[in-house]
Amino acid sequence: MKKAVVCGAGGFIGSHLVKKLKDEGYWVRGVDIKEQEFWTPPWDEFALLDLRDPANCEQAVLVEGQPVDEVYQLAADMGGMGFIHSAECEIMRNSALCNIHMVHASSAAGVKRYFFSSSACVYRDMTKEEPDLTEEEAYPAQPHNEYGWEKLYAERMAMTYARNEGMMARIARFQNCYGPCGTWTGGREKAPAAMCRKIAGIEDGGTIEVWGDGTAMRAYTYVDDLVDGIYRLMQSDCEAPVNIGRKEYVSVDELVQVVAEAAGKTVNIKHIEGPVGVLARNFTNEKIHALGWESKFSLKEGIAQTFPWVAEQVAKQQADA
Ligand code: NAD
Repeated sequence: MKKAVVCGAGGFIGSHLVKKLKDEGYWVRGVDIKEQEFWTPPWDEFALLDLRDPANCEQAVLVEGQPVDEVYQLAADMGGMGFIHSAECEIMRNSALCNIHMVHASSAAGVKRYFFSSSACVYRDMTKEEPDLTEEEAYPAQPHNEYGWEKLYAERMAMTYARNEGMMARIARFQNCYGPCGTWTGGREKAPAAMCRKIAGIEDGGTIEVWGDGTAMRAYTYVDDLVDGIYRLMQSDCEAPVNIGRKEYVSVDELVQVVAEAAGKTVNIKHIEGPVGVLARNFTNEKIHALGWESKFSLKEGIAQTFPWVAEQVAKQQADA
């Protein structure tokens, strides 16, 4: 039985990845600085560790003195656009420390395969009409925010260790991901969860506030699709970064309409000032498709799974207030 460590398993994508790896027959240790607040993933064990500390990284990758077979590094100080713009130092310091120490500890311990969760934020800002960027076209680099720069550095850390120390590294650049059991309030939530929360909280015919003019284009990937892509990539021989994302582009206003439909409500939008992020990002997913990956969930299908979960959290919060 293969053994894996999922770093960031107390978070959104990491907790779903634990389930995917268990379904694939792995023994799994989840690691995080915090507990998973929404559900108990089916890990074999969970370790509460701050991965900014090198000693904790060394401890995380050993089971009974032996290195695990695979490490999945998803731990990051992270959030949606509001967080990315307001917590630049935390992102640059905390995520970099986790990445630096975890890749070194994994390599030094003799871990065979190392996965790093990068982001589409490594790409520059684009217009809607521009042709799709390939993975190689992340360079010359011009990420829109510090989060993207930190991801590029961590990608290079993983590739450097692979080149010099012999540990296999696999790197995915995730598109925006959404689904149940993700952050939905508190300032770190991303747009799909934020829209679900806002719409769950209003009456039919009510109004929600949306940052910017609503025209920024985005593509969203449902979490089950994403963890399937992570698993396929980890088993592959792709040494360079690979994009994972569903090619279904919608404007922010169109996202609101998809959520409104799932909620069965008519929703009015009031556009207000706020951190919007890039205008558009178009990149190819040919490499991940070549590994047999296909997105199974349309935005409508994924939101139909996500909205009821967020609405339940909103109702619980209102009941507790
Ligand atoms: P998340 O915030 O839900 O999960 C990240 C987890 O890392 C959290 O549980 C957090 O507690 C943990 N963590 C932070 N600092 C830590 C530390 N010092 N020690 C141990 N654990 C620590 O985020 P997510 O959406 O699940 O994202 C997972 C990964 O995927 C991140 O690396 C993120 O940058 C990347 N990513 C996510 C998206 C998305 O749309 N969600 C898009 C692109 C890339």
